Amino acid sequence: MFKNPDGHKGTIIMGGGLTGLSAGCVLSRAGQRVRVFERAIEVGGISKTIVHNGFRFDLGGHRFFSTDPKINAFVKDLISDELILVGRSSKIYLRNKFFDYPLKPVNALLGLGFMTTLGAVADYGLEKVKGLIMEKEKVSLEDWVVSNFGRTMFNIYFKEYSEKVWGIDCSRISAEWVAQRIRGLSLSTAIRNAFFKFSGRDLPTLTDRFFYPDRGIGRIAERLQEEIELHNEVYTNTGIEQINHDGQSIQSVYVKNHVSEGLVKGDQFVASIPLPRIVQMLNPAPPAEVLEAALRLSFRDLIVVTIMLDRPRVTDQTWIYIPEKNIPFGRIHEPTNWSPKMAPEGKTLLVTEFFSTRGDALWNESDAGLVATAVDHLVRLGFIRKEEVIDSVVVRASRAYPLFEVGFEKNCATIMDYLGRFENLHLAGRIGLFKYYNMDHAIGSGISAAETILERLQRSEKVGDDDGERELVGSSR
Ligand SMILES: Cc1cc2nc3c(=O)[nH]c(=O)nc-3n(C[C@H](O)[C@H](O)[C@H](O)COP(=O)(O)OP(=O)(O)OC[C@H]3O[C@@H](n4cnc5c(N)ncnc54)[C@H](O)[C@@H]3O)c2cc1C
Repeated sequence: MFKNPDGHKGTIIMGGGLTGLSAGCVLSRAGQRVRVFERAIEVGGISKTIVHNGFRFDLGGHRFFSTDPKINAFVKDLISDELILVGRSSKIYLRNKFFDYPLKPVNALLGLGFMTTLGAVADYGLEKVKGLIMEKEKVSLEDWVVSNFGRTMFNIYFKEYSEKVWGIDCSRISAEWVAQRIRGLSLSTAIRNAFFKFSGRDLPTLTDRFFYPDRGIGRIAERLQEEIELHNEVYTNTGIEQINHDGQSIQSVYVKNHVSEGLVKGDQFVASIPLPRIVQMLNPAPPAEVLEAALRLSFRDLIVVTIMLDRPRVTDQTWIYIPEKNIPFGRIHEPTNWSPKMAPEGKTLLVTEFFSTRGDALWNESDAGLVATAVDHLVRLGFIRKEEVIDSVVVRASRAYPLFEVGFEKNCATIMDYLGRFENLHLAGRIGLFKYYNMDHAIGSGISAAETILERLQRSEKVGDDDGERELVGSSR
């Protein structure tokens, strides 16, 4: 079943998201033997596009953007005939009003009222002065945002949204996440952006145009799969159940699907599956402190509730952020604003993102209940009328976000330190490395894992050749 015809074991790739597929594609193009194992019924992981009766939507709109020419070239080479350039325009919906995202002071002034804005600017100034007198360590998201935007802005724009996304108090969310997510941003950058035409194109959060495959982001993963399958295999619906090792290197994985299961041996292993699961699947098991560190790492899950509508368009926005707690979803996007091919002619769809933790009340809610909640709020917000709804789809995506709780770095370090002993194990990707990776980072980490493997193979071939030469030289003497 899990073919190994020539006895050459090659590389085993755990996970068929963008990371695993990029690694597989690079290795495959280099003529290497590769097998990709993906637990879900299709590839793409979080970067997939769901297709339903002529409608298409991503699991939360995914825009491709990279400052790395190598990653841009890799994606363009793969799918340039399908890429379109999309303008980005996003809003924050708050207190029954729309605010520009990133915030523009004039817009914020008119929206929040003069006194609130004056207060926001004053306490931002206060934070800057405090910072000059004594630099305080920024441990939590709250510390970081208050220092960069002031307390008023934190309370209004960040607190509720962040707590909705992460499901825990802002004082428990690590500063690491927000610093990576809105790197380079502060109130002063936002003001400069508004008044001095600073484009911010190099800041991932501010870039105003991006590439998008016209039939959804999932096309990147599909094209990668096609490339790999020219010479190798991608097994979907097939999960890794166990990772066997001898203390120094990984020997094999135990894989299982609904018709078959078995041991698959490999020379090299790329793991882009959840870091804690890698630890838990090791056989023999690692020491207790490593297992405990794995148990302390958790993820935030996502429920995508998509409402199909009998009308051509609802909004003109890329994303609409909804921070307020009384509205149960945190973000909306309308895929037809990204590409007209995302819905049949004359129809559109709204995708709402509910942040959840597997097993909580939201996760356990029925699909019908979630759709009713989404429709009810979209009607109340004035986006749609109930009679326009023609269909709906609910998708539960587990492990969408590594949860960066204060102190997570220590647990990651314990695990990485242990896994470092396996010379042929290459951790990669967003959940494999437990990092806030966007698609470009995920693709980049898959490519790097493949390049490391290719370099090692070249080195060992060279050593083989050199040994041969030495033997010959030796024998001639
Ligand atoms: C709501 C949301 C919106 C986003 N928007 C953007 C955006 O606009 N732009 C951007 O650049 N990035 C965005 N991202 C980030 C992007 O989705 C990720 O960076 C990328 O998908 C990570 O790819 P990956 O392969 O590393 O991980 P994943 O996509 O998580 O892939 C891991 C794969 O491993 C599989 N797997 C797990 N366990 C097993 C097992 N035991 N055996 C076999 N397979 C297994 C999973 O099924 C999955 O397919 C967004 C993420 C989210 C959650």
